[in-house]
Amino acid sequence: MTRSAALARRIRDTGHAGRGAEPRAWTSGRAVRAWSAVELMGEAERARTEAYAPYSRFRVGAALLLSDGRVVRGCNVENASFGLSICAQRNAVWKAVSEGVREFVAVAVTAGRAGDASPCGACRQVLHEFAPGLTVYWRDARGRIVRRRLGALLEHAFTLKRRGSS
Ligand SMILES: [Zn+2]
Repeated sequence: MTRSAALARRIRDTGHAGRGAEPRAWTSGRAVRAWSAVELMGEAERARTEAYAPYSRFRVGAALLLSDGRVVRGCNVENASFGLSICAQRNAVWKAVSEGVREFVAVAVTAGRAGDASPCGACRQVLHEFAPGLTVYWRDARGRIVRRRLGALLEHAFTLKRRGSS
């Protein structure tokens, strides 16, 4: 086995490329049933440690559970031109879709102790694009995990008729 093949296998098997290897893999190869809300929130907390929020200091992490059991993490990334900033949940969606995955089961979002992490309207719409039946977990201002169906958070979501498969 070549070195790159061995590394690829290690990333696939462990979700991590090992010490010093870049880029770090963003998935964890665990079965869907193994993920509890608390565990998924733990992944969101991990994502939050990477948040880039020097302007608001409102650091957010998200963990998107895919239909195949893997988890994609995302954090908010701010910009000096504020309108270019991106939320953690959308960051995770962009990562998943760009890796060829569009089927999502659940998302967990946390802002730690900074406050309620209920997804913003823009993120609700983006999540709805791919997973109208998504289960959404977020940590509220008191630290509790709240669970809602996306449909309850975004009634009458905007949709368009699709023209083809892509
Ligand atoms: Zn958002």
